[in-house]
Amino acid sequence: MAVDSNLSSPLGPPACEKDAKALQFIEEMTKNADAVQERVLAEILSRNAETEYLRRFELDGASDRNTFKSKIPIVTYEDLQPEIQRIANGDRSTILSAHPVSEFLTSSGTSAGERKLMPTIHEELDRRQLLYSLLMPVMNLYVPGLDKGRGLYFLFVKAESKTPGGLLARPVLTSYYKSEHFKTRPYDPFNVYTSPNEAILCADSFQSMYTQMLCGLIMREEVLRVGAVFASGLLRAIRFLQLNWKQLADDISTGNLNPKVTDPSIRECMTKILKSNPELADFITKECSGENWDGIITRIWPNTKYLDVIVTGAMAQYIPTLDYYSRGLPMACTMYASSECYFGLNLRPMCKPSEVSYTIMPNMAYFEFLPHDPTAPLPSRDSPPRLVDLADVEAGKEYELVITTYAGLCRYRVGDILLVTGFHNSAPLFRFVRRKNVLLSIDSDKTDEAELQKGVDNATLLLKEFNTSVIEYTSYADTTTIPGHYVIFWELLVKDPSNSPTDEVLNKCCLAMEESMNSVYRQGRVADNSIGPLEIRVVRNGTFEELMDYAISRGASINQYKAPRCVSFSPILELLDARVVSKHFSPAAPHWTPERRR
Ligand code: AMP
Repeated sequence: MAVDSNLSSPLGPPACEKDAKALQFIEEMTKNADAVQERVLAEILSRNAETEYLRRFELDGASDRNTFKSKIPIVTYEDLQPEIQRIANGDRSTILSAHPVSEFLTSSGTSAGERKLMPTIHEELDRRQLLYSLLMPVMNLYVPGLDKGRGLYFLFVKAESKTPGGLLARPVLTSYYKSEHFKTRPYDPFNVYTSPNEAILCADSFQSMYTQMLCGLIMREEVLRVGAVFASGLLRAIRFLQLNWKQLADDISTGNLNPKVTDPSIRECMTKILKSNPELADFITKECSGENWDGIITRIWPNTKYLDVIVTGAMAQYIPTLDYYSRGLPMACTMYASSECYFGLNLRPMCKPSEVSYTIMPNMAYFEFLPHDPTAPLPSRDSPPRLVDLADVEAGKEYELVITTYAGLCRYRVGDILLVTGFHNSAPLFRFVRRKNVLLSIDSDKTDEAELQKGVDNATLLLKEFNTSVIEYTSYADTTTIPGHYVIFWELLVKDPSNSPTDEVLNKCCLAMEESMNSVYRQGRVADNSIGPLEIRVVRNGTFEELMDYAISRGASINQYKAPRCVSFSPILELLDARVVSKHFSPAAPHWTPERRR
């Protein structure tokens, strides 16, 4: 029931007293976006005044915007790498942040093929928790009754490693789920999950997924929302059910847990949850044994009101498949975050995926915006780019996000391009447009043009002895398979047809490409099973010329035409697919360990 409170918010009547406070907080932050930003910058600069980094730029203790903007350069990860490497190697002096670096967060963005290492400080956990605490109060405005059941969320921890200086390096969500903030969270009727902590915190991805799915099936009638962080993760869970429903139904029928689940803490907690229920086992068998998986989510979890998954950005490619499995349930994209910083939330989470906009919360960091105009001349030393403040961005314009964080990143380019779609109070709403320089992405992997080129170069070394070269190539992320996989179209020049490359060699070329990919890709292939084997499709000679003819017929200039390195437009894909003469898959998984190569 809505609370009649003087804390009532323009966002709508809150569902309970706690929600009222959260909504009021959002209102305060968004009404005073500029003042909050000014305070945040002053706080960051004064607490970090004595750091080596700020002293280097002679800020001399100034904490105002003008001095900051005139003295501190805009940087990328590569610019900060020497400082980050020193911290990773064990230098405990105050290099970037006055507060001790508590660990490194391994971003899915890469630098020189390795995950970026983002130094973080302990108190950032509070900021992340604060943003999480705002999500349900907003959701409750649109979907009533979420306190009457549970959320089936597939949440996972991933591999950790240590830097040479002994600091942990792990993904931000792994850090959060393993923190006391998550593990000992107080009971909240709006945030009850089907997955026990023991399953979420199990590092073995099979055992973790198996147990989370089993609990989801056992509590199927209580489930009101189904989710994962990204759409690709939820689809992986559905695929897991396709592959494992027999064993899961067997466990439910007998009340005995699959012996492949060996984690003692999971086995212990499942003794309380898993009881023999032949009727439920029969139901699961009936639903899963058919060929038709249309609407499987709504059939198994009939009370699901929405899917909670990010389907913006690269994840938009999964919307049709999720629609199929859920018979068009709404998909809520609730937040926008990164390893560097959690940014903000969607104040209209039940809107269509194509309309999702995020409101950046001005208390999370200091945000600046680099106008993104691909046609503008490149900024030079004499005319550095002019960054715009959060409250000054203009609706309809695109910007690249630049952040200054409590953990010590200063004017750091995140690499995301955002479009301003409107305002909530004085805080802008942003549509996520894309990440700069990303060509291919299946899960959290991000492959750019240079990485793809390097992969092709390395693979073509294997063709040398066949006197064969790749004359043109392009790629696409095939998400019709689960997990999705990279497809590379190759047009070959075979100089000696009596000695053309064998099937086996072309398969090896697939693996050689995978070995050249960055560590996030290889982790997805090896540890997370979130990416399938890479495929090379050889197309017949003349195909890329046809592609050019097609582009020119649609208005491309002959002089400037370059073969696209990635395609997604259906007519082009159809053209390419119609010219395929052979298909080849990677015969093995590439190498990957949690340890960094450098
Ligand atoms: P990571 O570096 O692994 O922390 O990934 C952070 C990046 O994921 C962001 O900079 C975005 O490019 C992307 N991302 C995060 N949240 C969203 C979202 N809600 N929609 C689209 N892309 C997102």
